[in-house]
Amino acid sequence: MSKGILYTVSAPSGAGKTSLVNALVRSNPEVCVSVSHTTRPMRPGEENGVNYHFISHEQFEAMLAQGAFLEHARVFGNLYGTSQHWVEQTLRSGMDVILEIDWQGAAQVRKLMPDTVSLFILPPSLSCLRQRLTGRGQDDKAVIEARMSEAINEISHYVEADYMIINDDFTVALAQFQALITSQHLRQQVQSERHAPLLAELLSK
Ligand code: GDP
Ligand code: ADP
Ligand code: 5GP
Repeated sequence: MSKGILYTVSAPSGAGKTSLVNALVRSNPEVCVSVSHTTRPMRPGEENGVNYHFISHEQFEAMLAQGAFLEHARVFGNLYGTSQHWVEQTLRSGMDVILEIDWQGAAQVRKLMPDTVSLFILPPSLSCLRQRLTGRGQDDKAVIEARMSEAINEISHYVEADYMIINDDFTVALAQFQALITSQHLRQQVQSERHAPLLAELLSK
């Protein structure tokens, strides 16, 4: 069975990472997104097991000690981690997996799995980023300020990514993201695995 492709998607908070990933996954049944574990409080409208697995600090530490996380990091004072078991199982089933994780997590994953494709999403400006964080209406003023002051640090890690998308016009950014996914599926190595019977037939005489 062919193995799925692993992607990391990183961005400063509010750049549109979740909106783009959700829209992409909706129209690509072979691509799914990992649900991270976090100690962050749930936002209004969020659902446990859908947006995140919301767990306590103690539960997080216990999972960490058991080696349950493929990667983990502290972001804005909260702990976030990706389930190793879920990612491995899903990739083995042939599905592509997207990890929406910060630059620290992306670096850990790249080291462990060098075939990972990394994408960075940037906002068209800092003022636009602030507008989006405010417009999302889910974080209070202090949280927004903390995220804005962390934005430049996150943005400075764009150089570590393989691909970069500026999320100005949402439709354009989504089309670019779609093009990236399509291009990865067209890689010769990926295509030869997927079309092994065809290749065997074409080369049979
Ligand atoms: P169009 O006018 O709907 O074709 O939009 P664009 O010209 O911006 O998009 C070009 C290509 O991007 C399309 O042919 C699609 O393959 C892809 N695309 C655009 N919008 C979407 C979307 O919402 N979801 C996905 N998966 N692909 C999209
Ligand atoms: P992130 O996951 O990176 O924190 P979100 O996907 O939650 O970001 O997006 C932050 C806010 O910006 C949301 O309210 C979303 O609807 C809005 N948004 C995302 N992309 C765009 C865009 N291209 N133009 C305008 N608003 C956008
Ligand atoms: P938010 O709380 O806004 O959903 O996410 C805050 C930040 O944490 C974002 O930069 C996001 O990419 C990062 N993040 C979310 N889940 C994970 C995870 O499992 N691992 C790591 N390393 N970062 C994560």
